[in-house]
Amino acid sequence: SFSADAVPQAPEDPLFGLMAAYRADNFDKKVDLGIGAYRDNDAKPWILPVVKKAEEILRKDPALNHEYLPIAGLATFTSAAAKLILGADSPAIAEKRTCSVQTISGTGAVHLGALFLAKFYPGQPKVYFSSPTWANHNQIFSNVSIPIATYPYFSKSTKGLDFAGMKKAISDAPDHSIILLHACAHNPTGVDPTREQWKELAVLLKQKSHFPFFDCAYQGFASGDLAKDAWAVRYFVEQGFELCIAQSFAKNFGLYGERAGCFHFVTGAGTDAQKTIGRIASQLAILQRSEISNPPAYGARIAGLILNDETLFKEWEEDLRTMAGRIITMRKALKAKLEEMGTPGTWNHITDQIGMFSFTGLSEKQVLELRNVAHVYMAKNGRISMAGLNTHNIDYFAKAVDKVVR
Ligand code: PLP
Repeated sequence: SFSADAVPQAPEDPLFGLMAAYRADNFDKKVDLGIGAYRDNDAKPWILPVVKKAEEILRKDPALNHEYLPIAGLATFTSAAAKLILGADSPAIAEKRTCSVQTISGTGAVHLGALFLAKFYPGQPKVYFSSPTWANHNQIFSNVSIPIATYPYFSKSTKGLDFAGMKKAISDAPDHSIILLHACAHNPTGVDPTREQWKELAVLLKQKSHFPFFDCAYQGFASGDLAKDAWAVRYFVEQGFELCIAQSFAKNFGLYGERAGCFHFVTGAGTDAQKTIGRIASQLAILQRSEISNPPAYGARIAGLILNDETLFKEWEEDLRTMAGRIITMRKALKAKLEEMGTPGTWNHITDQIGMFSFTGLSEKQVLELRNVAHVYMAKNGRISMAGLNTHNIDYFAKAVDKVVR
């Protein structure tokens, strides 16, 4: 029988635990490099100017109410989201072989995809993640009982991609495995394959009949250019893959708490493609109904408005360049400062890596020393959120790193 008493204590989520410890710290120079949320140069959350504008427009719209959205979400939002990731001129969209379901941000999209695959992917495949990956991937796929495995990704020696290791593991995986790929701005390493390497991966996945599952949480954050950051996904679609995509609008719209996201499924071309996608959409709708009934409206309305309006879209691109640009400036400044001080080690990876994060190469011992001595809060694996650095704290942080490395 069930005994409430017997429920064991679960470990605290490491990153949200870190955030609580940061908040409780009264030191005036404390630095928060934990959670991957954009901060402005004063370490404050930033509401994108274009989002403020969209909110004003929505506030004045007399037609809006608090009725339920459809099960698959706000259609103007999901169709614009598909165009954003696949390209407005995508043959998959033109041939109506995509379906899109609005989800609880990127997490919900990964979950809906995992649940769908657990139910319909034959042969009990394993899902392969990069090592390391976003920690939640493990929990989400484990929750739906898909066995997990990893492929090497990060080379400790070069602090870049372990491409040979990655290819070998993907090639050794049983045929028809699910391969989870970060579409761009890999979390936590900030290391992405080059276009040539993506092309090789596509050949390899094809040979092995693997199923690509793209997780896209940072479109626009890697390069500041939306199309460039979607290149890998679009290339795989061009190569005829059947695949799925989990898309988050938390970071690129700064809509973290509004949970705006989308799950897309793309089938291969063929005479029955439209019928196939119709059946897939019907199953996704049933799964969605049993899990959340209908997705939340507010964030989808904001993102949908911006994605569908040419002027607002241009302003959004400007805001994205502001965020990506500030992060790139911080990368350059941090590398320059460490090199200037002659901090032992090489630091070119700070500027080679892209997106929100940098995998510094600092050890767990050094990370803990930074926390205890310098009040710098960062993940134990040495990852820092570049957005936590600014012109006021970068000197302090660089000096603290210099001290623990010596
Ligand atoms: N996938 C990756 C790789 C991420 O880094 C994140 C956020 O950190 C997500 C998905 C999902 O985030 P959210 O659920 O806030 O959209």
